[in-house]
Amino acid sequence: MPRLSVDTKKCLKSGQCTYLHPDLLQEGPDGRPVVLVAEPSGAQIQEAEDAAEICPAMAIILEA
Ligand code: SF4
Repeated sequence: MPRLSVDTKKCLKSGQCTYLHPDLLQEGPDGRPVVLVAEPSGAQIQEAEDAAEICPAMAIILEA
């Protein structure tokens, strides 16, 4: 099962990931995303891949 994580040091707080994928990522108190589903499965794997692709800072990591 792939693992979803965020490199908060790279995050620019642009907000695309939490806006487009609120079921996977939620904005935390510091403006950076908090991962809600650390081990996506089924359709959420594609969603997590999309989130990683749209991040302008390449801060969203999906490890196989
Ligand atoms: S899309 Fe990337 S840079 Fe923007 S808030 Fe999410 S993790 Fe941070």
